[in-house]
Amino acid sequence: MKKLIYVFIVILLSCQPKQKEAINMVSVSILPQKYFVDQIAGNLVQVNVLVPPGSSPHNYEVLPSQMKDLAKSKVWLQIGLLTLEDALKSKLANINKNMAIVNCSEGITPIAGSEHNDEGHQHASNEAFDPHIWLAPAEVKIIAKNTLDALVTGFPQHSSTFKSNYTRFITQIDSISQQIDQKLSQLKNRNILIFHPALAYYARQFRLSQMALEYNGKEPSPRHMKEIVDLAHKQNIHLIFIQKEFDPSFAQQLSREIEGKVVIIDPLDYNWEKQIMDITEKIAAQK
Ligand SMILES: [Zn+2]
Repeated sequence: MKKLIYVFIVILLSCQPKQKEAINMVSVSILPQKYFVDQIAGNLVQVNVLVPPGSSPHNYEVLPSQMKDLAKSKVWLQIGLLTLEDALKSKLANINKNMAIVNCSEGITPIAGSEHNDEGHQHASNEAFDPHIWLAPAEVKIIAKNTLDALVTGFPQHSSTFKSNYTRFITQIDSISQQIDQKLSQLKNRNILIFHPALAYYARQFRLSQMALEYNGKEPSPRHMKEIVDLAHKQNIHLIFIQKEFDPSFAQQLSREIEGKVVIIDPLDYNWEKQIMDITEKIAAQK
């Protein structure tokens, strides 16, 4: 009996800190958002990420086991333009009525979905707007402000810490924008060729032009491949960017046809700052 009571007390004690953490839980849709929350909240909140590393946020389906952590969250910070977010919203209404759902794209001028529609093709993705807002520092400043406001509302006891961390983060983002501007200032060829068109907002901010190998969110048809090969020749493009979670075979095929090189990037990496600079270095290498 004594032993049983002991076990009971141990269980009770080990449960307590967990419960405490759960109160300060926020959910985010993708990993780079965890980086943004961490910059502002440090270790004052626990972050639950819905789309696991290696999965695509365009077609990921949240597992039933993930609903628990989502339901425990005080706030869900959405990118705001992802299909999975809409699909989940209605389910959540029954599970956690008190959770605030915040659209982090609020205030951003969205870019229309980057898929072509000129051959009478259907849109493969039902995302009306391009969701890749986290890949441009200008947009990340707006995401950060929406994140700050949500955190201050959810956890007002920490508002002064959040606000000073936020100010520091914004200064850092401005410095990143300047560094990117500088690195790309000498770039003569401002056309980028990419498998999955994730850089529309980045391209808008830094005056580049993005061309995608994917067509309607699907593998390119022979006809589209041919168009891209011709364009790449015309525009003297030798680099083909591809995100690490995609099948590289089409990019490799294209690289052979244009005597180019496949360059792997990871826009869903946790370390946003490192990643955005890595992408920049790789683009700057394009002659
Ligand atoms: Zn994407």
